[in-house]
Amino acid sequence: MIEIIGLRKQYSNDFLLEIEELNIDDGERVAIVGPNGSGKSTLLNIIAGVISHDSGSINIKGECVFLPQSPYCFQGSVLSNVKIGLNGSAKGKDARKAASEALKKTELEKFGRNKAGSLSGGETQRMMLARMLVKKHECLLLDEPLSAVDIEFCRKLERVLLDFCAQNGSTMLISTHLPVQAVNLSTKIIIMNNGRIEEYGNTRDVIQHPNTKFGKMFLEQWRIE
Ligand code: ADP
Ligand code: MG
Repeated sequence: MIEIIGLRKQYSNDFLLEIEELNIDDGERVAIVGPNGSGKSTLLNIIAGVISHDSGSINIKGECVFLPQSPYCFQGSVLSNVKIGLNGSAKGKDARKAASEALKKTELEKFGRNKAGSLSGGETQRMMLARMLVKKHECLLLDEPLSAVDIEFCRKLERVLLDFCAQNGSTMLISTHLPVQAVNLSTKIIIMNNGRIEEYGNTRDVIQHPNTKFGKMFLEQWRIE
């Protein structure tokens, strides 16, 4: 469960994120969409505790894992990068096995011994997903986690994410600029506009019947097949 009340964050350039209230139930999968600069990353970074907010309260039940928008890796091999995600919960052979399985899910098994720094942007994102999949998490905060991933892998990884959430009962908050991804992955959708939530509701309802002028305009630009 994530509960946000009276959240405000102002950057020096005048951008203001302002969220009166947002409640996300356990097991919900929420897609955050909206134009560039509408505050999707700011909101996720604040919930993850990576950037501070000026006022308001955020209550999170359970432990969250956060994948920031810019892919990154640690020194060492791809396999060792994935093992870091275990956070000490498995050792030796068990750790290797768990990491190998996660690499298989993201179709990176043949890269296991390679240097993580040698991966492409899309491969690095897949490695970050593997690092997350290696262990159970109650809450996933994912900022455009598949933005550099090829379309063919996207569909597969969406399936992997859905399976992971179903198996672990995880709550997921995921920002995306791809309409089809929002539809495939989410039970609920948030449309953001200039630091505010314009629409929040069941994905189908919001997409079929947006309540606001902005929501309507934004969704008209989306071709959902
Ligand atoms: P989105 O993820 O929806 O594209 P962001 O949350 O990244 O949007 O950014 C929202 C707005 O805040 C943008 O106008 C961006 O330029 C600005 N912004 C983001 N980070 C900072 C920062 N550290 N300092 C000042 N402005 C920022
Ligand atoms: Mg962003």
